[in-house]
Amino acid sequence: MKKLSIVIPCYNEEATIRSFLEETQKVEKQMSDELVFDYYFVNDGSKDKTLAVLRELSAYFKNVHYLSFSRNFGKEAALLAGLEAADGDFITVMDVDLQDPPELLIEMYSKIKQGYDVVGTRRADRKGEPFIRSLFARTFYWLINKISSTEMVDGARDFRLMTRQVVDSILELGEVNRFSKGLFSWVGFDVTYVAYENRERIAGKSSWNFWSLLRYSMDGFINFSEAPLNLSMWAGAVSFITSIIGIIIVIARKLTVGGSVSGWASIICIILFIGGLQLLALGIIGKYIAKIFLETKKRPVYIIKEKG
Ligand code: UDP
Ligand code: MG
Repeated sequence: MKKLSIVIPCYNEEATIRSFLEETQKVEKQMSDELVFDYYFVNDGSKDKTLAVLRELSAYFKNVHYLSFSRNFGKEAALLAGLEAADGDFITVMDVDLQDPPELLIEMYSKIKQGYDVVGTRRADRKGEPFIRSLFARTFYWLINKISSTEMVDGARDFRLMTRQVVDSILELGEVNRFSKGLFSWVGFDVTYVAYENRERIAGKSSWNFWSLLRYSMDGFINFSEAPLNLSMWAGAVSFITSIIGIIIVIARKLTVGGSVSGWASIICIILFIGGLQLLALGIIGKYIAKIFLETKKRPVYIIKEKG
């Protein structure tokens, strides 16, 4: 029988793991004539009793496995560790807070049987999400799809069902700075989406705040687009050409009607403008160099302290 591996990153989730497993096991029963399930929980350096809960569950259920990191490495690292460990014919990635409804797996698997390689999920709406967060999220997707050739679907969750072949391709991408939303889409294959209504997490709280999301979206831009670099190059080109025209005008005026000392304020404005532009461009270049720096160190993406 074919095997489905479920990868579940967990960070401070002692309150949700048991209900997650219970709900998912109901689906496991419903699908038991087609698939066997196994679970790979990844404890991403939780500070609560997540690890204790995982130890207990994996001792009790023989298809529950866990990996535990030496510290918090972030969800991207947890996803990677889980995908590397999972050995199923099909692999899915789920949040533990039941915002990714396990019963969708049935519909998703039927699409896989129709011949798709990847079945993603997307939220039909952003109900229950703060207005500002929705606004920024929408702007992010709009902008990144404009400037990056890798398509990212608005509202697409990380919750997706993939064939072995797709996961192997994702694992071949050896980058240290991992932006999964982009990597999943970059590998291609036949992808379809299942839409569902947004759900609130059952317990605990989201580990994302406004700033961490902003940083995350910056990573998306830097990892999947050269547009910020092009932008600063064009801004530089425009200001250079403008200054050449300015110099010609100044010289011509000196030779014809004579120079003047007025215009001090405007000169200061221009100096500040150009200075600002240069710093901005340097900052953007610096961002890319920082990524290259991290990439060349070839540090491991995560460190596993305990397995079970
Ligand atoms: N998570 C993780 N490491 C982190 C932050 C989050 O493994 O540093 C996990 C978390 O336990 C959950 C999933 O990633 O299973 C999604 O996190 P969360 O629900 O906080 O994000 P949201 O649903 O609000 O986007
Ligand atoms: Mg969540």
